[in-house]
Amino acid sequence: MELEINPIRHWLPQINNPLIIAGPCSLETEEQTMETARMLAKDHRVFVYRGGIWKPRTRPGSFEGIGSIGLKWLQMVREETGMPVGTEVANAQHTEEALKAGIDVLWIGARSTASPFVVQEIADVVKGTDAVVMVKNPVNPDVQLWVGAFERLSQAGIKNMVAIHRGFTPFRETEYRNYPNWKTVIELRRLMPNLPIICDPSHIGGKREYLYDISQKAFDMGMEGLMIESHRDPSCALSDKEQQLTPADLAKMLDRLVIRNVTTDNKIFENQLELLRNRIDAIDTELIETLSSRMEIVRLIGQYKKDNNVTAFQVGRFSELMEKRAKLAESLNLDPNFVVQLFQHIHEDSVRMQTEIMDKP
Ligand code: PEP
Ligand code: MN
Repeated sequence: MELEINPIRHWLPQINNPLIIAGPCSLETEEQTMETARMLAKDHRVFVYRGGIWKPRTRPGSFEGIGSIGLKWLQMVREETGMPVGTEVANAQHTEEALKAGIDVLWIGARSTASPFVVQEIADVVKGTDAVVMVKNPVNPDVQLWVGAFERLSQAGIKNMVAIHRGFTPFRETEYRNYPNWKTVIELRRLMPNLPIICDPSHIGGKREYLYDISQKAFDMGMEGLMIESHRDPSCALSDKEQQLTPADLAKMLDRLVIRNVTTDNKIFENQLELLRNRIDAIDTELIETLSSRMEIVRLIGQYKKDNNVTAFQVGRFSELMEKRAKLAESLNLDPNFVVQLFQHIHEDSVRMQTEIMDKP
């Protein structure tokens, strides 16, 4: 089922570039809010001003947001700069207040998306309005939970929706604050091809130095924009100080990013791409035929082992195979880890097939 979703330009007609949303992690004072907004408004690539006022903090005791007074500051930003404004809502009360204040963009944070009750509570409040609602990925890489949030909003009649990729809680030590796990984003694209997706490199990276690489990767992957935290003076920010950029540094970073087109009208390019894709299709066909021949032999071996009463899985053979394949891969300019993983799958299926043969009466 395809949900009815509007493209970004439907609710932001002035957009002529990727959607860049920027602003502080948290609104702290009226002065910080306004000054940061004035600086960002000078950059015509920034289309929406963001500012958190109800902050979901992992542990209590740190700055939990300025609260409802921030809605007034956001209204002042829009009045003075003309920029649409957005904030995070995490329950029915936030949502009611934000709608009442005429906040242009609401977003559901990563911790909230992981909770269907919270998403439903928010969906019930926005029901029947033409609100713009963005949904960050859930903290855990469960694409169904992410899709579920859009379905709940869609059932409430919301059509102005955008997904924000902000990375996932890492399950091992990584340089980034949140693991980008791009394959979950690709999966969302496949499941909901008409849903605009933007990237939040600030919460993925956790540090300023990583923002450029993550943002470029997002554009290379065909994402439609960025949400980036920007503060007039990150060194004294009350939250996420390590990952915020000054508006001047944000502008420098945007200058360096190469924005790619998802499609093109260039016929020569289209023809070349078509030729290369035909070659890939032919190679993939060969790969599958080769795998099929390999499996034929695996079956023969299975029968042979059965006749001689030998186990299907033999660890010595497995280690030797992996070692040889990794070496060959390396000599052919392939990533040996990738090839080892591929052969783990192939070997797993070979053992499965052999045990099936053995279990047959
Ligand atoms: C934020 O955008 O400031 C925020 C809290 O993000 P997330 O929900 O991605 O952690
Ligand atoms: Mn933040």
